[in-house]
Amino acid sequence: MMAATPDLITDLETIKRLATARRDEFEVMRYMLELNDDLSDAEIDRMVEDVAQPVIAAIDCTTCANCCRSLDVYLTPEDAERLASGIHVPVEALLDAVIDREAAEAEGEWGRFRAKPCAFLRGKLCSVYAYRPESCRTYPVFTPDFRWTLEDTIEGAAICPIIYNVLDRLVPLVDRL
Ligand code: SF4
Ligand code: SF4
Repeated sequence: MMAATPDLITDLETIKRLATARRDEFEVMRYMLELNDDLSDAEIDRMVEDVAQPVIAAIDCTTCANCCRSLDVYLTPEDAERLASGIHVPVEALLDAVIDREAAEAEGEWGRFRAKPCAFLRGKLCSVYAYRPESCRTYPVFTPDFRWTLEDTIEGAAICPIIYNVLDRLVPLVDRL
């Protein structure tokens, strides 16, 4: 269980239950944003970042690591080079051991970690933090184009406390637009 922050929900079982129960509510928010002609994409993104930044700052990912346990992690050739160099193994050895090129290419990507949880996760910490793939560095992504990528963001609400709490705070704001 993650450290409690008074107005944030961080318990992973609770997040999963609430995100599933509130999915229709989040989808209605998405429709409302897609239909909104008054705000530009940039204005919506600014509103979302204003909500997201305090949530990101308040949630300690080192007590969670649910994304490292649950998500497919995609890599670019640059990610593989950086990781191989950082842990001092040939790229070919890294590819053989942990990266599935075939499965990734079937999804239009270059590479994907084979294992879930990630093979580099130690407890709740990343053992290759300085060399981790770009997708690990940027997750969770809210902007740019929040309203046009919200479908994917909603998918993550059941596993990521940051996403759930950001969507939870956005619902009443979008209601008032
Ligand atoms: S490389 Fe590190 S940050 Fe990325 S999924 Fe694996 S453990 Fe998590
Ligand atoms: S990004 Fe989300 S799922 Fe990943 S460790 Fe942080 S709070 Fe947990």
